[in-house]
Amino acid sequence: MPPAGSPPRRYNRIVPKILVTGGAGYIGSLTTYQLLQRGFEVVVVDDLSRGHRHNVPPDLLRVVHLQETAALAPLLIGVDAVVHFAAFIAVGESAREPELYFSNNVGGTISLLAAMARAGVKRLVFSSTAAVYGNPETIPIPEDAPLAPVSPYGESKLIVERMLKQLDEFRGLRSVALRYFNACGAMPEAGFGEQHDPETHLIPLLFRAIDTGEPIKIFGNDYPTPDGTCVRDYIHVSDLAEAHLAALDYLMNGGKSDVFNAGAGRGQTVMEVMRAVEEVTGRKVPYVIAPRREGDAAELVADSGKLRRVLGWKPVRSELGRIVKDAWEFFQSARAGASRP
Ligand code: UDP
Repeated sequence: MPPAGSPPRRYNRIVPKILVTGGAGYIGSLTTYQLLQRGFEVVVVDDLSRGHRHNVPPDLLRVVHLQETAALAPLLIGVDAVVHFAAFIAVGESAREPELYFSNNVGGTISLLAAMARAGVKRLVFSSTAAVYGNPETIPIPEDAPLAPVSPYGESKLIVERMLKQLDEFRGLRSVALRYFNACGAMPEAGFGEQHDPETHLIPLLFRAIDTGEPIKIFGNDYPTPDGTCVRDYIHVSDLAEAHLAALDYLMNGGKSDVFNAGAGRGQTVMEVMRAVEEVTGRKVPYVIAPRREGDAAELVADSGKLRRVLGWKPVRSELGRIVKDAWEFFQSARAGASRP
């Protein structure tokens, strides 16, 4: 006890406060969950244009668009770091509506960064993408590979990465950009999984084909890959969420700004994923071979060595069978929930 009459003792806050943008979405909600499990104080900002209210504890959610500066500013007071997921993510849509992607993904981020500067928040973890590499020349792809996005989506993320470099120099903002490969899987035990509308991702679409009997279109089987279908690096969403926690730790401990590939570091073809789905579900997937999808690279596999080395990250749930099993469990429970009156 301090002696009577002495000033109250001042404590350093030991629970870091994190603002998560896009925390009602697929990866953001699961990362929020893992932050809470780890004892962080969290505030979620989401405009719910694509996220789901039920993904966030109601008392943590602030329904705000990043460009509503007056509403955003007070939420940044006392924040130690921002984890910035909020963005549109559909490559095909970005080709049809590039302005929407630049306005939302770049414009929204500029507004956030300006508000952070005003509030003195100096740490940021940013959701970037393997789409910044375009059609890579080397596989696995190292972080220093040429940056040549082939979609407005990829370009919008690269523009932000470039802004972050300048803000490091001129504002002292320390950031980690994680270049996501194919986020997939679920955490059914905690109620988290993939629910995009419209759904464009392979694994949920394979389940839907089983469910409805309507064949899935396989986009091209004439790529220069082992079975002719595209190769991707599938990373379990829970492992991806862990990469954000590792990045936060790194920044809180004084780490310098950097960019990391976030992939499991191995590739699988579309047909291999389909076989894994058939094995887990015990059902045949109806499919047809369709023309190549515009903008699809033949092969995207991360060199994830830097993430492992510098951030001490390693995947624990990214084995394909596990990914599919978790995703299938979530798909079934979401379907059961949807059919309940
Ligand atoms: N794919 C497919 N049919 C579909 C959806 C996806 O053949 O209906 C393929 C797609 O061409 C890619 C892979 O599955 O090679 C993963 O696609 P997804 O859209 O899930 O992720 P992306 O690689 O575009 O980030």
